[in-house]
Amino acid sequence: MIDHEPLIFELSRNGRRGANLPDCDVPQKSAAELLGEENLRSSLPLPEVSELDVVRHFTRLSHRNYAIDTGFYPLGSCTMKYNPRINERTAALPGFASLHPMQPEQTAQGALELIYQLQQHLADICGMYATTLQPSAGAHGELLSMMMIKAYHSDRGDLQRNVVVIPDSAHGTNPASAASCGFKVKGIPSNDRGCTDLNALKAALGPDTAALMLTNPNTVGLFESDIVEICQLVHDAGGLVYCDGANMNAMLGLARPGDMGFDVMHFNLHKTFSTPHGGGGPGCGAVSVKQRLEPYLPVPVVTRDKDTGAFSFCHDRPKSIGKIHSFYGAFLIAVRAYTYIRALGPLGLRAVGENALINANYIRSQLQDSYDVAYKSPICMHEVVLTASRQKQQSGVRALDISKRLMDYGIHPPTNYFPLIVPEALMIEPTETESKQTLDAFIEVMKRIAVEAIECPEQLKSAPHNTPVSRLDETLAVKSLDLRYEPLFAPEE
Ligand SMILES: *Cc1c(COP(=O)(O)O)cnc(C)c1O
Repeated sequence: MIDHEPLIFELSRNGRRGANLPDCDVPQKSAAELLGEENLRSSLPLPEVSELDVVRHFTRLSHRNYAIDTGFYPLGSCTMKYNPRINERTAALPGFASLHPMQPEQTAQGALELIYQLQQHLADICGMYATTLQPSAGAHGELLSMMMIKAYHSDRGDLQRNVVVIPDSAHGTNPASAASCGFKVKGIPSNDRGCTDLNALKAALGPDTAALMLTNPNTVGLFESDIVEICQLVHDAGGLVYCDGANMNAMLGLARPGDMGFDVMHFNLHKTFSTPHGGGGPGCGAVSVKQRLEPYLPVPVVTRDKDTGAFSFCHDRPKSIGKIHSFYGAFLIAVRAYTYIRALGPLGLRAVGENALINANYIRSQLQDSYDVAYKSPICMHEVVLTASRQKQQSGVRALDISKRLMDYGIHPPTNYFPLIVPEALMIEPTETESKQTLDAFIEVMKRIAVEAIECPEQLKSAPHNTPVSRLDETLAVKSLDLRYEPLFAPEE
């Protein structure tokens, strides 16, 4: 499975060192004195290697990573767009990167102004009133939104509202966030067009409705065309409407959830507004709210003094749901998003939305003969959901096999088996940053794989063949996860 290049453990030689430190000139304490004898292990086999060995080891491993900077990454619902380098430049400016969260506010006015302005830009982009940048991820923004909705209802003495309605196409984090907040989750089916079924929604609403959580465009890549009526129905029932804004890339500069009737939404700054993501690094799930939810925003809120123009953190907010993050969230992601928004400007943002739609619809139109499109709507939004049901029926080739085969051609697979309501789903989101040439190359490979599925299905079922690690037994990998590295041979003494 793993190639036989010697890795770090095999390279170890007794006594080899990566760095020579000067003699310590302060009184020394032994590890045992500092940590306690019981916490020490006598035989921790750390590799003993030179600096060059370490550099080569990690550089070699890094070459095995797939990244947006190395190739096309059409992972649906994740908006794996190119992250402009100017964002990294600004985030690395010492005045931002070297800030200490405890330093006095008067010495960090520029940073506070950036937060203040970004909050306002995001509220303008989605048609809401106020924004917080504190949540660490989209899921964190969902949880915060549920907490604010709960606070809103209980503040009004509307205490019986304990149900959150969620369509069956939703991202798994939606029901998890609602349940984590103590709500009961009521699922409703989608109709045969992949959108919210109005009759099912009406039947689910009642005096116990706290909120509806809805993704728009939804997770099958379609715009909820009944959205105004949907919001009206929920409001008439006394509930609030939450927008999962992870798909905001499709609507940038084109439409605003606030205008559609949503009361609160989260952005994934690390999707829509760039920031490298996908490896579990820091994110930002900014949340924007209408005026009636503003009092419940988490503390602190960045405010501007009307007279002096000075910015400060305001903690004096009696209705706030409290703190949800240490200090003020992932500030350097805010710097990247701010740079991205200001570099593009309103027309540039609109072009992002338009090109995201054009790219997805181009792929859809080119692949609809080779694969079945999950929902027959005249256009899709920023992503297209295909299904490999036809291939499965013809030759037993599944969505997973097609994805694995794409890796042989050097392309990152699309999202598989999500949304759950589409059998053998392949969810493709090209984003606006890819050229027609890249899209054409992808389309060509996908067509070739469709032919392979008929002519040599076994080649797909055992793919990938060209990657450092071939097909894994995924069930086994989950049930008995083993992350230890076992040296292939014992290092020489
Ligand atoms: C990515 C995504 C989320 C969750 O965002 P995280 O930042 O990964 O927590 C929620 N909903 C949808 C539709 C998403 O695509």
